[in-house]
Amino acid sequence: MIRSLQRRAFTVPELLAVIALIVIIISILLPSLGKARLITRQAGCQNNQHQLVIGWRSYVSDHGMKMMGAHTHRSQHDWVVNSTSPSLPSNETEEALKNGRMYDYVGTLDIYRCPDEPNEHYLRSYSMNNYVGGAGWYVNVQSRTSSLPKPNKTMIFIDEPDPRGYNWGSWVIFPKGHAQQEQWIDWAASFHNGGAGCVLSFADGRAEYWRWEDTRTSDIQWFYENHPGNVDLDRLQEVFNPGDVGNP
Ligand SMILES: [Zn+2]
Repeated sequence: MIRSLQRRAFTVPELLAVIALIVIIISILLPSLGKARLITRQAGCQNNQHQLVIGWRSYVSDHGMKMMGAHTHRSQHDWVVNSTSPSLPSNETEEALKNGRMYDYVGTLDIYRCPDEPNEHYLRSYSMNNYVGGAGWYVNVQSRTSSLPKPNKTMIFIDEPDPRGYNWGSWVIFPKGHAQQEQWIDWAASFHNGGAGCVLSFADGRAEYWRWEDTRTSDIQWFYENHPGNVDLDRLQEVFNPGDVGNP
């Protein structure tokens, strides 16, 4: 019996070899586990925005094709309704989200926040495109889906970073054809895939991950940065007010 046990026991070199093998396996698996987590959070954001657009579409259906307001403080028809301007360190409150027209349709606060939102105290990561139910800002703002020239190419929500501590108002950029078209106003987040891209969603309900091509896009620190030739800004302008003419 003793001889049998001794035969089964590992020698020190064998144990070291097993440990080395385990370390190698873990080192191979860890990066892919990290990558899987990134993809899961990105998919969670796409699901959030998809649900928000479904809520947005339901509101449109119930209101004769009229869209809810894209702002966060201008009227009781806005998707989020702040009664006062939020300011640091306090952020937009749960009450502002619950008072908004979107909450009537989605009934949960969980989907207003991107899973990769870096600011712990932010309740909301998404902003709504000003072109769909906003106000002014160099485009012919539309109030009904029936008047959108290209609804399925029109962005509704986007991950937005806001260094002020809250996503105030709607999401705005200069449209194509404007004299300042190479300048940002608001900009897009780089929350996903380790800072490489952003999720945005469209009137038909689809939500897409966009990877930024220009390194300047991920480095924006404040409003109105000037980026001549930035292909990411150009691409966003294509979905900001597609088909809109005559008001650059
Ligand atoms: Zn996101």
